[in-house]
Amino acid sequence: MYLLLVEDDLPLGNALLKLLRERYRVHWIRNLTAASSHVDTAEYDAVLLDIGLPDGDGIEWLRSMRNRGWQTPVLILSARDSLDDRIRGLDTGADDYLVKPFEKEELLARIRVLLRRMAGSGHGVLSVGDLHYSVDKQQFFLCDVPLSLPQMESQILAVLMQSGERPVSRERLTQQLYGIGGGTDSNTLDVHIHTLRKHIGKDRIQTLRGFGYRLAAV
Ligand code: CA
Repeated sequence: MYLLLVEDDLPLGNALLKLLRERYRVHWIRNLTAASSHVDTAEYDAVLLDIGLPDGDGIEWLRSMRNRGWQTPVLILSARDSLDDRIRGLDTGADDYLVKPFEKEELLARIRVLLRRMAGSGHGVLSVGDLHYSVDKQQFFLCDVPLSLPQMESQILAVLMQSGERPVSRERLTQQLYGIGGGTDSNTLDVHIHTLRKHIGKDRIQTLRGFGYRLAAV
């Protein structure tokens, strides 16, 4: 799961980064200009958005992004706690609104809700055949037995599971591994896929030549 954090407050940003990195891949940026370029070039699973940013208003930015058809789930984090602000945020296209200061457990719970919804699974479990993924716990199960996967393989499988049996491009998988502008050595992806196949069975991941991979229910 890959989150984008848009927050200009350094102490808060650092604290959130530390908290979230224990559970998710996170990219932290501090203004809307960077937010625009990042959401244009990477697929995030959810965005945590401050409103008061140095180069503009987060809600207006969200409005323009929604008008362009951008659909990534957004959780607004703001000290603005009036009813009007919260309604404006939600009506503009935020999926949720959390008033600062907040308890970290509540933030994590709300992120889990967003990710479950994003995964199209209200109960938070994705399945392809007898391979299951608990989005909340970020735990995989094969025939009901918990899988212990290395970190990179776990991230790759999470992306594949979110797509069910639909194909996922190499580009998307590489992006999940390295982030924007990171390593693009495609051999590394092949190595991780090879390792993943050893854990879950080679027939469960099909190679689509020239495109990428897809999971198969076997
Ligand atoms: Ca701010």
